[in-house]
Amino acid sequence: MSTRNVIIIGSGCAGNTAAIYTARAGLNPLVVIGHEPGGQLSITTEVENFPGFPEGIQGPQLVENMKQQAIRFGAEYIAGRVEEADLSKRPFRIKVEEEWHESRTLIVASGASARWLNLPNEQKLIGHGVSSCATCDGFFYKGKKIMVIGGGDSAMEEANFLTRFGEEVTIVHRREEFRASKIMLDRCRANPKIKWLTSTVVEDVLDVEKGYVTAAKLRNVKTGETWTQDVDGFFLAIGHIPNTKPFKGQLELDEDGYIISHGGARTNIPGVFHAGDVEDRIYRQAITASGAGCKAAIEAERFLEAEGH
Ligand code: NAP
Repeated sequence: MSTRNVIIIGSGCAGNTAAIYTARAGLNPLVVIGHEPGGQLSITTEVENFPGFPEGIQGPQLVENMKQQAIRFGAEYIAGRVEEADLSKRPFRIKVEEEWHESRTLIVASGASARWLNLPNEQKLIGHGVSSCATCDGFFYKGKKIMVIGGGDSAMEEANFLTRFGEEVTIVHRREEFRASKIMLDRCRANPKIKWLTSTVVEDVLDVEKGYVTAAKLRNVKTGETWTQDVDGFFLAIGHIPNTKPFKGQLELDEDGYIISHGGARTNIPGVFHAGDVEDRIYRQAITASGAGCKAAIEAERFLEAEGH
């Protein structure tokens, strides 16, 4: 097994940008595509806020363009996810599809996956009314009926943001009490466009036959009452899960599993760098992930250079 200069874990905006930069630096990076090829952008439709595309661009196209750009400079991509990692000594080792790979540096850009409700029709309607990102998709629901699921700060933030577009925004939460901070909750309570459905769970989202969201099937958990409510945009804000499982006990993670940064793109292990949503729980944008990928690539390059590679 030959030792690579850099292995990049993840093929979203962060991973692909790190691949472009390290490939152009002649480091011949290997990119592990991961279980969600293309990351979060691959499950959105139109992206209108990535600079450089005045007419907008489809999310999957944008991320594919980045990949092709990296390949043009010599990046290699392999399918599969990282099952195990050994960061205890250098070169670092990662196992992908039963095969071990070695590298002098690692860029962890494995992202954070949106948590889904696992409703029967939910996945079929992603990008057609079902979304996990208000910033990305809110604009498409001008004058429409919107539902936001969740009772945390993300749900409050997204609901408030979505009132800029929607005719009304209904927050659906499974309990009476909210996990959200008081200030965010109060802001929503003061917003006349926001309606509330507490002690309510979603049983399914409709209508797969039409190919877009028309309604949600709801149930009050106290009374057992069920009903169908018309809705155009169905936004999930029930949290994200960072993809850091193989690094647990090796990389320093916070209580929710996000990588703790040691400044710049550095982790607690010299030679292992972070990029994108795997560390960033605040901004989570395509452009910030790309920026983080660029930073990680430059740091990896300098790290290798200092060692004479
Ligand atoms: P969160 O605080 O974990 O809240 C998730 C919400 O989703 C909870 O209300 C939870 O209900 C609900 N939920 C989870 N699984 C569910 C399911 N299967 N069915 C129905 N509901 C479900 O996540 P978050 O809101 O994304 O926030 C994550 C972190 O980022 C927090 O620390 C938050 O403060 C922070 N954040 C801060 C800001 C800000 O300050 N501007 C903005 C966004 C996020 P239960 O309450 O019943 O468990």
